[in-house]
Amino acid sequence: MLNHASFPALQQRSLQTVWHPCTQMKQHETYPLVPIRSGKGVWLHDTEGKRYLDAISSWWVNLFGHAHPEINAAIRDQLDNIEHVMLAGFTHEPVVSLSERLTKMAPGSLGHCFYASDGASAVEIALKMSFHYWQLCGHVQKNQFISLQNDYHGETLGALSVTDIAIFRETYAPLLRPCTHVPTPDWRYAQPGDTPEAHALHTAEMLEAYLAKHHTQVAALILEPLVQGATGMGMYHPVYLQRAREICSRYHVHLIADEIAVGFGRTGTMFACDQASIAPDFLCLAKGLSGGYLPLSVVMTTDSIFQAFYHDKTARAFLHSHSHTGNALACRAALATLDIFERDRVLETNASKAAYLNSIATPLRDHPKVENFRHCGMIWAFDVKTGDHEFAAKCFRLGLQHQVVLRPLGRTIYFMPPYVISDEEIRLLIDATLAVLNTMTD
Ligand SMILES: *Cc1c(COP(=O)(O)O)cnc(C)c1O
Repeated sequence: MLNHASFPALQQRSLQTVWHPCTQMKQHETYPLVPIRSGKGVWLHDTEGKRYLDAISSWWVNLFGHAHPEINAAIRDQLDNIEHVMLAGFTHEPVVSLSERLTKMAPGSLGHCFYASDGASAVEIALKMSFHYWQLCGHVQKNQFISLQNDYHGETLGALSVTDIAIFRETYAPLLRPCTHVPTPDWRYAQPGDTPEAHALHTAEMLEAYLAKHHTQVAALILEPLVQGATGMGMYHPVYLQRAREICSRYHVHLIADEIAVGFGRTGTMFACDQASIAPDFLCLAKGLSGGYLPLSVVMTTDSIFQAFYHDKTARAFLHSHSHTGNALACRAALATLDIFERDRVLETNASKAAYLNSIATPLRDHPKVENFRHCGMIWAFDVKTGDHEFAAKCFRLGLQHQVVLRPLGRTIYFMPPYVISDEEIRLLIDATLAVLNTMTD
């Protein structure tokens, strides 16, 4: 059994040996870590008995709350059979069932599933497969990737090359491959008077102009469909995806849809691509795939891409090898997650939860410090008028005092709650956020 150390002791021990992600460790000299003992539904409980509403689903991974009884039971059951077996030369029921179900749900005919553990690795796999495919087809000069301005695709070197978030990228720039980031359809960048749709069409024209010139060198366009998460929940009109699909097909460039954050109902449809009725050549999924329980990611692709690798020669195969590919426990968690989706008509329930949140969000939307209030499915965001460089850190701490986990991206506050959030919890969230905004002085 684990010993539950006291709150301050655990904070101290963590700072001595755990290097925390996305964190300047020195700041913890002043700001304490929060030791979490347990979770239930949307709530996280710390070791002193305080609770916090997990309004950002633990970095966007959790779908149905913490300690969901059915997902817990599925993992326990799997534990008694096989926890993990290498997927080269072996297979198992959970990975086969999951692949079959994902193929049925995904847009288009993405019938081949390649698994990894994290989102960044899924992006690496999609990039490698796309490049390798063109090599196998004799288009050896197709070795460039393009992505959208402000896109985020993970932080391993290949994924970081197609990411356009300065704070993550700049330090490592000498290690990265050159990548063109075409103009973003995010409507906050629209010319005055332009609608989100007009802006999406306009930026799609710029994509076309780029590919008309460079398509012979470009293997793939990778993008975050509908919502650019890490830049601060930038949202755009689905017509951009329709145009991007047409343009990529016309110029023989793969379209990689990175639905790592937006897949599994986040944007209101099962996949964001569904809102544009398009299918990518590669679909990357992670985060919510296992309900957020265990690290699991997948790249889904078409039969024509799969067939290019299918050959007598070993060297023509996709030899990417990852120890934990298709982990059985993670696949069982994913299957239990899909069961909940099917049985509980989650997309419909979410639509009414979203309508309720919007109906009571007027004081936020109209708050003098708030601009660009926006919403897509189960994601809400707004930008706060502030010149305070410490805004995000202050907001996080104030949020905790009001029992809610807010972790702004720059000056953007966003909600991405677990789908099990109740109306009462939605009210708590709005009230706590208003209280935080009203406490902040500038
Ligand atoms: C989180 C995220 C990734 C990276 O996933 P990890 O599991 O953190 O490596 C990639 N793309 C998008 C759009 C993401 O939101």
